[in-house]
Amino acid sequence: VTSLLTFTRTKKEKYEWIQLVGHPGTFKEGIHDGYVLKQLNENERICCELLQNDNLRNFVPKYNGTIEDDEGKFFIEMEDLLASFHEPCIMDCKIGVRTYLEEELEKSERNPEPRADLYNKMITINPLAPTEKENQEKKILKPRYMIWRESLSSSQDLGFRIEAIKKSRGLMSKEFQRIKERNDVKKQLMDFIDNSLPRATGYYERLVELRSTCTNSDFFQTHELISSSLLFVHDGNKASLWMIDFGKTRLLPKDISITHRKPWVRGSHEDGYLFGLDNLITLFHEIIHE
Ligand code: ATP
Ligand code: MG
Ligand code: MG
Repeated sequence: VTSLLTFTRTKKEKYEWIQLVGHPGTFKEGIHDGYVLKQLNENERICCELLQNDNLRNFVPKYNGTIEDDEGKFFIEMEDLLASFHEPCIMDCKIGVRTYLEEELEKSERNPEPRADLYNKMITINPLAPTEKENQEKKILKPRYMIWRESLSSSQDLGFRIEAIKKSRGLMSKEFQRIKERNDVKKQLMDFIDNSLPRATGYYERLVELRSTCTNSDFFQTHELISSSLLFVHDGNKASLWMIDFGKTRLLPKDISITHRKPWVRGSHEDGYLFGLDNLITLFHEIIHE
């Protein structure tokens, strides 16, 4: 009887694995109970390994090494953060003021061919965005497009943006990436927690703890965190969050240190991670005290 119960529960947990963003097929069931596999990215693997022994270890999924599947594909095995929840509500927030690496920008500049497809993408979103010159050419340079895209969401102004939300039993929504205004973001956060004070308090306290841990973390002081997310998870009054997605997290060049707060300028490597945390903390503080 005991083993049957265990089996049923395991099945249910695995069945309830939910992936909010990213390419389908990147994730699959882990070898061990309560773990998932994510397609190997060497940069991410190194980060996961370093983080296991860092002060931030309680803010990241446990990492269990790499695995090769039958087709010869490699994966990292990490803790399924949803495993201890029954019917979780989940939110993926991308932290930072930009979501591309400086090297990606440089790469796009090595090919200075203006592109009509990017011009068309831009005018579909905002016909007023192109400059006069761009309108004449009906083409746009990729770096210019990459920088512009960041201004569509709250990333540039608030240092974070909501990527996706899945409420328990509710549908998943990814309609957030164009939400830019502080008040609109706040409304989405309040809606996500169903205006619950215990949830707001839970998230607030965890965020404050994360921020102070970041400032005491060797990993955080020596890395640039781009396109990394916080995964918010609550169920009833239990609310917690973790750092995920280190595919674009990089060791800083030796001669460079960053504040994670100052605005980014080319070459500074600033990521705006703490700026984003500051804003999330202030927003949850306001939600609690309203
Ligand atoms: P992208 O780079 O497009 O954001 P990705 O392939 O790097 O995607 P992640 O961002 O790491 O993938 O994860 C995608 C989604 O999978 C997250 O939004 C979250 O819903 C889920 N997820 C990722 N890691 C975990 C984990 N350890 N436990 C539970 N859910 C997770
Ligand atoms: Mg991600
Ligand atoms: Mg990623």
